Amino acid sequence: MNSLSALRRGHTVQQLQQEQFDLVVIGGGITGAGIALDACTRGLKVALIEKNDFASGTSSKSTKLIHGGLRYLKQFEIKLVREVGRERATVHRLAPHLVRPEKMLLPLIEGGSYGQIATSMGLWVYDVLAGVEGSDKRKMLDIGETLKKEPLLSAKKDILKGSGYYAEYRTDDARLTIENIKTAAQNGAIPANYISAHDFEYNKGKINGIQCKDELSGESFTIKTHFVVSAAGPWVDTLRNKNRSLEGKRLFLSKGVHIVVPHEKLPIRQAVYFDVPDGRMIFAIPRQRVTYIGTTDTPYDGDPNHIPITEDDVNYLVEAVNNMFSDHKIQAEDMESSWAGLRPLIYEEGKSASEMSRKDEIFESNSGLISIAGGKLTGYRKMAERIVDLLSKKYKEQFQQSLSPCQTNQIALSGGPFRNFEAVNIYTQQIAEALKAYGLSSSDALYLVSNYGKQANDILQLMDKHSALEPEKIMALAEARFCIEHEATCRLTDFFNRRTGRLYFNLPSIERVKEEVIDLFGEVLAWDTDRLKEEQDLLEKEIQLSKNIVPANY
Ligand code: FAD
Repeated sequence: MNSLSALRRGHTVQQLQQEQFDLVVIGGGITGAGIALDACTRGLKVALIEKNDFASGTSSKSTKLIHGGLRYLKQFEIKLVREVGRERATVHRLAPHLVRPEKMLLPLIEGGSYGQIATSMGLWVYDVLAGVEGSDKRKMLDIGETLKKEPLLSAKKDILKGSGYYAEYRTDDARLTIENIKTAAQNGAIPANYISAHDFEYNKGKINGIQCKDELSGESFTIKTHFVVSAAGPWVDTLRNKNRSLEGKRLFLSKGVHIVVPHEKLPIRQAVYFDVPDGRMIFAIPRQRVTYIGTTDTPYDGDPNHIPITEDDVNYLVEAVNNMFSDHKIQAEDMESSWAGLRPLIYEEGKSASEMSRKDEIFESNSGLISIAGGKLTGYRKMAERIVDLLSKKYKEQFQQSLSPCQTNQIALSGGPFRNFEAVNIYTQQIAEALKAYGLSSSDALYLVSNYGKQANDILQLMDKHSALEPEKIMALAEARFCIEHEATCRLTDFFNRRTGRLYFNLPSIERVKEEVIDLFGEVLAWDTDRLKEEQDLLEKEIQLSKNIVPANY
């Protein structure tokens, strides 16, 4: 049985209880996932624990771009832009099905924050820093070319000066996290979701164990380890506090909200990065049947486990869109779904949320807790490399043995390998052909391949079990089986949110398939009636929250 099968979870928890690890990573977001993969492929015995589901923190709530961060150029963050800019192509190469090219249009508007010359220069520097080549290099478009790319900008044609057109990549952050975790598991790491770290154990003042709780069974136990890395995102300071090492630099949490509308409400043809009247910039990105819009950037000091979306947040994004696409005004009621995440930034005196650096930093406590925070989804692999380089030194000092150098730039993520993006497209056509037999369409093929890459074949194999049903249900049930057996999918919300993205990008489909999916989960995972009810209630609560309706007792 696959080591990440939810059916094998009991065995995994036993391994955590009984084995001695070199490294335990706390936090199953993209940072922790990247560290686990890097560390186990250099020869360390690694466990990763996540208190909720993998990617349930910030790593399922980003703008889902693998981007160089054009706006950081304005803040002269040259080193950051160079690193993440270059990482884009690397992460694309490692998972071209999941990190897909997405051309971005930056309209130049009279009185806007970027002039024509500054934009042209800025995008040129951006390309040079990131080593962008060939047809991906930026182009400056005139008004006619701009309107051809995005006819919805015609509302601004009197003050439109043209646009910058440049290359970025789009992903699904939660799937990028889970594929890193799966690849780590294939290389010997032991990842477990729903295991929280509560406290540390010490020997002669140095951490040698983590007190944990299994959040599904309620059982408490200790994991024995030589090294601990906390990649707990917005919760990094909570763990530093437990370790009594919260001194010096601290986290600053900034909230970012996205809203999703049906594509016909804002039928943009392509991704646009545009000015907001307050001087910030936001994205509007088409994604199959919807367009998503974000993000806000405001200080947050509430509960990181429950991040509310206020009327002001929604209105800010609605007004920003209506200001740019004034012939296609949207309303708050058009919002189909939404999400809010927290940027775990490093506090800098006197700066606003959007001015604060996105650089990552490492904190080390005297008792051996290594924490990493800040950074970007895009730069996760380099962040992991820095942490494991540091561990490598410590390992050599302690055990007089050298670890191998970082090799993650050569390790295709699970779902691959694909030679290049062209190979992804050819494979997608093959899947589309095969899906016809089940009454499914080419957009279903695109969805399956973007989410699962070559694992779409494994999902196809499972479709026959349900072939008497409607096409949409056949696919959802095959996905559910695959996710339970291969992706540690323990709860309904893991499936509908972080494995499939339906909670954000296809909310209406949940209503259509949920009955059968609930039955399947109940049967495969042997849930009793209490558990079934708990799971159904939790799913309903998350559906309400995605619609931005605050459920009772929240
Ligand atoms: P998280 O994803 O939050 O992971 C930390 C994990 O630790 C959580 O899952 C949490 O449950 C777990 N945890 C905490 N405490 C414990 C404990 N005691 N025991 C066990 N587990 C624990 N970056 C980009 O490159 N591109 C973008 O488009 C982009 N857009 C963004 C938009 C928004 C609105 C935001 C907020 C961020 C965006 N970012 C983007 C930044 C990026 O999303 C984050 O840098 C990244 O996801 C942080 O990942 P992480 O793993 O460090 O934290």
